[in-house]
Amino acid sequence: MSTSKETELPKKKAKRINVRTPEVMTKVQADVEEHYRSRIVEKLNNNGGRLTLGTTTVRLAKQFGFCYGVERAIDLAYAARRVFKDKNIYLIGEIIHNPEVNRQLREMEIKNIGGESPDAQISDLGENDVVIVPAFGAEVSLMDQLKAQGCQMVDTTCGDVMSVWKRVRKYAKEQYTSIIHGKADHEETRATASRALSSGGHYLVVLTLEDCDYLCDYIRHGGNSVEFLSRFEGAHSSGFDPDLHLEKIGVANQTTMLKSETEELQMRISEAVAERDQSQQNLRGGGEDKNSFQFFDTICGATQERQDALFEMLEEPMDILLVVGGYNSSNTTHLVEIGGEEVPSFFIKNSECLKNIEQIMHFDLSEKSEVSSYSGSILDLNQPVTVGVTAGASCPNNLIEDVISRVFEMRGHDREDILGSE
Ligand code: SF4
Repeated sequence: MSTSKETELPKKKAKRINVRTPEVMTKVQADVEEHYRSRIVEKLNNNGGRLTLGTTTVRLAKQFGFCYGVERAIDLAYAARRVFKDKNIYLIGEIIHNPEVNRQLREMEIKNIGGESPDAQISDLGENDVVIVPAFGAEVSLMDQLKAQGCQMVDTTCGDVMSVWKRVRKYAKEQYTSIIHGKADHEETRATASRALSSGGHYLVVLTLEDCDYLCDYIRHGGNSVEFLSRFEGAHSSGFDPDLHLEKIGVANQTTMLKSETEELQMRISEAVAERDQSQQNLRGGGEDKNSFQFFDTICGATQERQDALFEMLEEPMDILLVVGGYNSSNTTHLVEIGGEEVPSFFIKNSECLKNIEQIMHFDLSEKSEVSSYSGSILDLNQPVTVGVTAGASCPNNLIEDVISRVFEMRGHDREDILGSE
């Protein structure tokens, strides 16, 4: 096990300030409603998630859009802007994965210290600066540095992300290597991995079942460690040695993964570890059973609810599915994957992607780029058509409204028709 705990920096004590006072929150609620509320989405919700005008039906999933963690993060950021009126406020990267919400924050003069062109250097920040930690959390070393420099922190990390951290810390303390099912370059997974490190443990991030099978083969039979490390480059802790650090394994996952895939991954790893331990025991001629594997499902409730609601909506036939959300949003991506198994599904960031009735700009998950497709199913205005709509946990209702309005508009109905319908 690694002993390379991250060096502890002396922390200057920034005063803890509650930015969510009742007075501030009344104003924040008004701001948030103004920016993101949608009467049309409310209308569909009150109508059992369905609206038909002429030959066109739009169905909305029972659970979609902003989750509790995202709502809290946005509230905190808006509240910070009101409380720290005269201070520079910086955000670490994106608060959530939605361009519209991040644009609103920029308009409120919340600057950024992440990405390729940051508004300030982290090392230049100090006691007069406020730093917002996004809903995904941030790496331990960065948090320690900012606290050591005396920055006022406004931490919006979601409680569900913190429970993953708790789990990997436990693994590290019990000398289990954390296998994290997630994307190695996702902010949440980087933050989670750093908790394993700061507790003296190791980690390996596995994204696909293909990589999982490679890992399982190594667990069972060993292999070429150089090849292993090169395959998982950028996805393991420094000093990770597959011949040493796969002895005891604890699996956790990024909160927004596809549940069925995470369950499959943990089952395959569990079986590989059990088989390896059994054959080692046979070679020893018996002995005590080893307890070399732990698993804890850390998919968050909101992700699960949105996936379940989509499965339910897909039970009734539809012509196409529109999934609205930021292209870098993990939970939205999984909604597209679920939809794509059943019906032509389009991953769109906003209503502008619906160029016209023949052409939809959408993010292609295999190409990893925006492409243009033809959707014949909504072309004939005389034929009845049903369009399913859902949205990832970081997508505001106003964007969902725009998409619903645009679908009806392309089929000959304006906003007034929608709002005036029974
Ligand atoms: S998707 Fe889940 S983990 Fe992420 S902010 Fe929402 S509730 Fe929290």
